[in-house]
Amino acid sequence: MKVLVLNSGSSSIKYQLFETHDWAVRAHGAVARIGEALSEFKESWVDADGTRQTQHVERAIPSHRAGIDHIIASLRTNRVIGDISELAAIGHRVVHGGEHFKSPTIVDEAVVAAIRAVTPLAPLHNPANLEGIEVTRRLFPQVPSVAVFDTAFHQTMPRTAYRYALPEWLYLEHRIRRYGFHGTSHHYVAKRAAAMLGKPLEDCHLITLHLGNGASATAIRDGNSVDTSMGLTPLEGLVMGTRSGDLDPAILFYLAKNLGLEMTAIEDLLNRQSGLLGICGVNDMREIDRMAEDGDDRAELAIGITAHRIKKYIGAYYAELGRLDAIVFTGGIGENSMEIRCRACEGLETLGIKIDDRSNFCGEHRGERCISTPESQVRVLVIPTNEELEIAQQAFDATVGVARATQ
Ligand code: AMP
Repeated sequence: MKVLVLNSGSSSIKYQLFETHDWAVRAHGAVARIGEALSEFKESWVDADGTRQTQHVERAIPSHRAGIDHIIASLRTNRVIGDISELAAIGHRVVHGGEHFKSPTIVDEAVVAAIRAVTPLAPLHNPANLEGIEVTRRLFPQVPSVAVFDTAFHQTMPRTAYRYALPEWLYLEHRIRRYGFHGTSHHYVAKRAAAMLGKPLEDCHLITLHLGNGASATAIRDGNSVDTSMGLTPLEGLVMGTRSGDLDPAILFYLAKNLGLEMTAIEDLLNRQSGLLGICGVNDMREIDRMAEDGDDRAELAIGITAHRIKKYIGAYYAELGRLDAIVFTGGIGENSMEIRCRACEGLETLGIKIDDRSNFCGEHRGERCISTPESQVRVLVIPTNEELEIAQQAFDATVGVARATQ
């Protein structure tokens, strides 16, 4: 059997097709610029004799429905799937599940309505995610569409971590609270960390750091998320590519009152013009590393603020957890930037955290690895994330679970 994973954005659909017997990726690709005059379709697949093939076409793909049609047609033409009945499930990434969804869920009408109900909490993401779901339910009603939520892993947080110190009615009537995101990634690397530590996830105390264009830290006690840095929206917490992360909320009043900025301008400023981009004019960490090496002071500051913020969260979450087995770095920056890893853990020796400089220098080795010294009480791990695999496995488990329950 196979599982198709779809990540539907406002003008794009990324996909991967997995074999369920060994979880190998048979095909992956993306449709980009949906609705524009010339959309882009990229696909890579492994053909019957094991050779990897690629294709890249540009043509008009007016809608998500046309995009998903195109993906399935191409998978069939390239003989990656024969009949649609080979699909055990279609797993959909859904950014926000609110408080309703604590686990992957097979989608029916009630689930669609519940995802729609939390759309005000993720107005940029949930509508596109829903669009993908509705298309696959219409096109392939015989294949379960499973929603896998970015927020679900964090639903184990205690209320002391998820409630803000705001008037109670804002929570009771409007569900304003911390939800957290990147849950699929934090959960995946936590499971891999447990395997590397050689003990059950249920016994692990971890701090997982997903550092990519978006970035978040999670405190994991006995395998469960007990705190995370992103909040009601993915704007809170660490410094990100273009997002500010933590701020004094009074800065917003200042911008409105003294600079006369409208709310939409402030939203844009904090989401798209801040973070690394705001500090040094560039949001690509590779470029920032090069600039800093060439002596650019603003690039140096961007790295410094980013690492300082990560270190603050490590300290806070260590205090929350009391005992710590490992810190896990993942995401484009976490997996690749030895500079950020080094600076975030610098000076934490008294907490039992010591990075080994040689192991931290990744060289050619880009897989899962331990980068702490043998004496370091807390292991420091680098684990490439694989959200698509996690979604595929969770979607498959959800359908198998239902099949078992109905037997
Ligand atoms: P992601 O959102 O997980 O794809 O991560 C994107 C971020 O990872 C960008 O800031 C990239 O510059 C950064 N990144 C990717 N490769 C490297 C690398 N080799 N060194 C430093 N940063 C990297």
